[in-house]
Amino acid sequence: MTHPTPTPGSGAPGSTPSRALSPATFVVTAGRPPRVPGAPVSPGVDFSSTYAVRPAEVGRPGYGRDENATWTAFESVLGGLEGGNALVLASGMAAIAAALSLAPPGRPILAPTTPYNTTSALLEELAAAGRPVRRAPVADTAGFIAALAGAGRTGGPAGMVWLESPTNPLMEVADLPTLIAAARGHGALVVCDNTFATPLLQRPLDWGADIVVHSVTKYLAGHSDLLLGATVTHPDRDDLHRGLLTHRVRHGAIAGPMETWLALRGIRTLHVRFERAAANAAVLARRLAGHPGVARVRWPGSGAMLAIDVAGDPEDPGPADRVVAALRVWTGATSLGGVESLIERRRRYPGESTAVPECLLRLSVGIEDVEDLWADLDQALSTAVADPR
Ligand SMILES: *Cc1c(COP(=O)(O)O)cnc(C)c1O
Repeated sequence: MTHPTPTPGSGAPGSTPSRALSPATFVVTAGRPPRVPGAPVSPGVDFSSTYAVRPAEVGRPGYGRDENATWTAFESVLGGLEGGNALVLASGMAAIAAALSLAPPGRPILAPTTPYNTTSALLEELAAAGRPVRRAPVADTAGFIAALAGAGRTGGPAGMVWLESPTNPLMEVADLPTLIAAARGHGALVVCDNTFATPLLQRPLDWGADIVVHSVTKYLAGHSDLLLGATVTHPDRDDLHRGLLTHRVRHGAIAGPMETWLALRGIRTLHVRFERAAANAAVLARRLAGHPGVARVRWPGSGAMLAIDVAGDPEDPGPADRVVAALRVWTGATSLGGVESLIERRRRYPGESTAVPECLLRLSVGIEDVEDLWADLDQALSTAVADPR
């Protein structure tokens, strides 16, 4: 399925090139000021909280909670990449909260059993407030579709289907085209968290999803120096775009202009960063699978995120913690998608799902030299995992 090229919002600072360009070209060329002599090639940061309006102008607030030229520039790049209309928000969770606010009232929300842990916590909060929330394993296509239809459950078919693929941190892969088609067949709104894959690997809107959400904090910005989020709505669903825009204005979780400008600078190199990080991940996934200190590698075959189960008792955090402590090039830290390689034992969070084993390490592979990354992992796994067989 193809969609028309999105039109940038009014006040777009640049002439946005057609998405018919390859993503590698589009991330570099989109969201620039118009090409007139003397114009800057790179947009500046729009720090204004208010804008001059004509005295008789109706309907345009001209206020910084409603509009900002730096937002518009970033939104035109991300919207074009995903094939929809983007809105930038203060964080990935602000984008997720905004999308969940559009769930049709009175109908269940269906979500993966083990999505990103803070998404899960927010869904639990909604459930505690009386909202029906249903869970099903997202990699079990038939089971997820049965849960969607509501067979044998109270509440009928789901009104909103929440998807995340690959999931954080179990790296479960959903059959997105099939699940999206099934959800639409039941008239459900479909939201997909595309943070791990990025629009370079998959565009859920092309498969009929209504809304894509992103933690821009991760690959899109790419340098672990800011927090930001975004929604992108299907070009046919201007009603949803307006709903999200209203949510942003009224709930006020707006993005800082400086963060947005840094994300715009970061997304210029998305393609080269992601290509290099994914190539590194492919090499590491293959070598880790043959390492005696590793019981299991979870890697979906593309992308730059992977997880390993450290050999030994799956519910013993000790060996995995020792691996992280022994690393010198990799940094033991949360978050992902930056240029630097990060590693984290996810069960260190009390709120992480017990479906995630204590021995699991999540790896965000960066753009360093892959031999340096491998040598560091090899020495840490070898010294930290005593007699793994
Ligand atoms: C990090 C993350 C989020 C939350 O984004 P923030 O920018 O930290 O609020 C949501 N979904 C996934 C898959 C993530 O990895």
